[in-house]
Amino acid sequence: MGHVDHGKTSLLDAIRQSNVMDTEIGAYHVELESGSVVFLDTPGHAAFTAMRARGAQVTDIVVLVVAADDGVMPQTVEALNHAKAAGVPILVVLNKMDVESARPDHVKRQLAEYDLVPEEWGGQTIFVEISAKERIGIEELLEMLLLEAELLELSANPNKPARGTVAEAKLDKGRGPVATVLVQNGTLRVGDVFVAGRYNGKVRAMINDRGHHVKNAPPSTPVEVLGFTGVPEAGDQFFVVGSERDAKALSEFRQAQHRATQLGPQSRVSLEELFQQIQEGDIKELNIIVKGDVQGSVEAVFDSLQRLSADEVKINVIHQAVGGITETDVLLASASNAIVVGFNVHPTTGALIAKENEDIDVRTYSVIYDLISDVRSAMEGLLEPEVREVVVGRGIVRELFRTPRMGTIAGSYVNWGRIIRNYALRVLRDNRLVYEGQVDSLRHFKEDVTEVQANYECGIGVSTFDDFKVDDVLECYTHERIPRLLK
Ligand code: GDP
Repeated sequence: MGHVDHGKTSLLDAIRQSNVMDTEIGAYHVELESGSVVFLDTPGHAAFTAMRARGAQVTDIVVLVVAADDGVMPQTVEALNHAKAAGVPILVVLNKMDVESARPDHVKRQLAEYDLVPEEWGGQTIFVEISAKERIGIEELLEMLLLEAELLELSANPNKPARGTVAEAKLDKGRGPVATVLVQNGTLRVGDVFVAGRYNGKVRAMINDRGHHVKNAPPSTPVEVLGFTGVPEAGDQFFVVGSERDAKALSEFRQAQHRATQLGPQSRVSLEELFQQIQEGDIKELNIIVKGDVQGSVEAVFDSLQRLSADEVKINVIHQAVGGITETDVLLASASNAIVVGFNVHPTTGALIAKENEDIDVRTYSVIYDLISDVRSAMEGLLEPEVREVVVGRGIVRELFRTPRMGTIAGSYVNWGRIIRNYALRVLRDNRLVYEGQVDSLRHFKEDVTEVQANYECGIGVSTFDDFKVDDVLECYTHERIPRLLK
């Protein structure tokens, strides 16, 4: 991933040429002595994030390409925020090192501000300096990728039924549904029965990234697969199952599930429903994407949001940038369950369509105060209500009765508030706590009652406590949940 013109295509070309391959599919498989690497040639972070929005995690490492003469640009930041939001490690490639105006140290300083600190400066990010044009540093980059893979302990077992992800799929006139599947674990073989998303099938043929028919595909191989019952979606999980009956049953179940999620309630975060969503689920963080007309306004919004962040509800600004709200922003929001706020900017048409499809809360404002105040009100619902003890009444024990069923009953006089059945009860003697239980039985004369008001007499029984004494103070209390306001 990287900013336009920073050399992604050239880098892929360089990798492909030095490894002689001619491919039609959007994934390249590079064999090295110490292992193999698959490059997913996605058109950009939008595709990457779209896949992730569907729950697919196909990328183990993101290669962030930055032109050393141009430095960090808007799409660089966007790409690294997408990678970070996905929790995918980033390896930085400083490209165009052959150009005289290349300033690698300057770019490193820029990236350090985004927590991508090179190892030589005490950080943990691998930086590789290359020239895609002059084919310099390509081998080193590939080695670094394998090293990183080793460190991340990325491994797979070829002796298992295959599992993978659909990278792309289409309906081919002559061949029917065709999908590029990235095998991530196990080995895929011709004749295997599989489920992919809502469809199933039997592998009729497989074509590798060099255009050759293959009989089997081990882990980390992209292959074109023929034999689907329908066209799956990019990002669909693909896995081999034992029998065609299982495959059918599973895909039917998934069809039904798909229909249900299409019709059912959405679990998207939105400012309106935050409060309820918090109460039902366990959302404790609000992810926000901030877009604005100028750097100053973006920073102002960011700062104000940071100040709103409380211990109970953290505000994560997962991406902030100058510019209109784009489709990519909406996809990132979808993948990260975030909302998008814009200050003095508006969504592009693509963003509007994506917003509808993905059901994302996108809001635009022209006054920062309004923006902050909306988020604040949503958060007040978001904040866990404070649980506070409320004393509802007090009584004093005047005499003791013994009953066979409840044991000792405290004949009491309510001198303040109310004593309420089933509420908590505390027994105080000389201002010290003796016991805490609850009002299990409450009587006014011979009658069972639910509560007794001040200035009345009553009999109080606590099933777990028998040791009342005359002059004990009984305090009846409860817990109330009080919605909290932010300071
Ligand atoms: P992409 O938009 O990120 O895919 O970038 P491209 O690969 O299309 O490269 C954009 C331009 O930069 C092209 O004109 C390339 O020839 C040029 N370019 C790419 N890599 C290098 C490099 O290492 N050195 C120099 N001098 N130019 C490069």
